[in-house]
Amino acid sequence: MKRLLCVAIGLAFASIAIPATAQSSPEQVQARQIFERVISFRTSQGQGQVPAMVSYLEQTLRSAGVPADWITKLPSGETTAMLVRIPGTDSSAKPILFSAHMDVVDARPEDWKRDPYKLIEENGYFYGRGTLDNKAGVVAMMSTILRLQKANFKPRRTLVFAFVGDEETSLDEPDGTTRQVAAHPWVKTAEYAINTDAGGGLLAPDGKPIIYLVQGAEKTYATFELTVTNQGGHSSRPRPDNAIYDLAKAVIRVGEYRFPVMSNALTRAYLGAVGKVTPGPAGEALRKFAADPQDAAAAEAISASPEFVGTTRTTCVATMLNAGHAENALPQKATATVNCRIFPDVSVDDVRKQLISIVANPKIDVKVIGAPVVSPVSELRPDIERVITQSVHRRAPGVPVSPYLESGGTDRLVYRAAGIPTWASSGVFIKPDEMFAHGLDERIPVKSFYDGLEHIHDLAVALGK
Ligand SMILES: [Zn+2]
Repeated sequence: MKRLLCVAIGLAFASIAIPATAQSSPEQVQARQIFERVISFRTSQGQGQVPAMVSYLEQTLRSAGVPADWITKLPSGETTAMLVRIPGTDSSAKPILFSAHMDVVDARPEDWKRDPYKLIEENGYFYGRGTLDNKAGVVAMMSTILRLQKANFKPRRTLVFAFVGDEETSLDEPDGTTRQVAAHPWVKTAEYAINTDAGGGLLAPDGKPIIYLVQGAEKTYATFELTVTNQGGHSSRPRPDNAIYDLAKAVIRVGEYRFPVMSNALTRAYLGAVGKVTPGPAGEALRKFAADPQDAAAAEAISASPEFVGTTRTTCVATMLNAGHAENALPQKATATVNCRIFPDVSVDDVRKQLISIVANPKIDVKVIGAPVVSPVSELRPDIERVITQSVHRRAPGVPVSPYLESGGTDRLVYRAAGIPTWASSGVFIKPDEMFAHGLDERIPVKSFYDGLEHIHDLAVALGK
């Protein structure tokens, strides 16, 4: 998943021009060739193309001289993950993990203007499924490994690069490749992970960078089912109790309820940083809330914006309804699906108890679907922030850098839940209206693709020291 924040409010600030880069170094030519190949693999669920892509990546590494024992594969059903390890000189230092995912959300060629599985460069963009989410990250890691190998770079700390095979589909699968990666002996002692699949910069409409965001936490994704059962009967003889009416009242109550405003150091830093680059009353509310999270008026103003409501509280919303079995029968069963995005450090069970109290009807059964993964906040460590900021400033001097809380759920939470603090940091800068991950005409600005190579290379060199 890729959900670079779409902070599309005004964006009047920022006056830093991105320096132009020449795009013709041998590394860039090689990276572009790899990008072309990886986009051509339809690595969506059911296509079984991930192992073929892994073979290609492996061959590319091997023919560049990467030793066979630096590479291992972790198969899982039709897909597979690949780990590549550059051994460090200090065996007592914990390894550092880099991660990208190779699978994509399927794109149907008949729905696209261009072939989604062919890399097409047009008007300053690379088009194709996975260009943004997350094959640019795959290529940035490949390019970094190849460059380090060519330079005979010996990091002090072991660097492990994880190419995940099913991020889009199997976060709940116990044998999904992300969980296998997190549990692998090369990875499980990692001090932290850098994920290429989120985090990045926002550009103003004129292309100037406004802010760079590092993803340091995710809300817990949990879905609940509200069910009312009733003995039913013939519709010509209505009873006072009715499963649909009971459920409808419960759903209205859920819709009217607002979970309490919450914040932590990470969300305050994030909202404050966005507030500084957001003009007008919206920016003022963000700054006020960051300074004083008890400021109810500021919290209220922020909650009115769909971009930020999720950063200030747990949210739950009804997403599906299912009730009755015949038009002339009283309903025996009515079910509502309620999807919640739970604020960090709040338990799934606490939210379930709150839903039970909100619907206030003992006839309604509230149960959680599946086994949501709860992940802790990865506070942005000052040393990591410094390295990321230095790298970002090489290409966007002076742009503010801030952590952020993601409202969704991605493979980062699997690493965090496994005890590996994780920060998502890609080198991609885009405008909010350039965000087409999972959608039609997915694209990445050509400059962002090449800058992303440098970003991951910079981080690997600096963090590996
Ligand atoms: Zn992704």
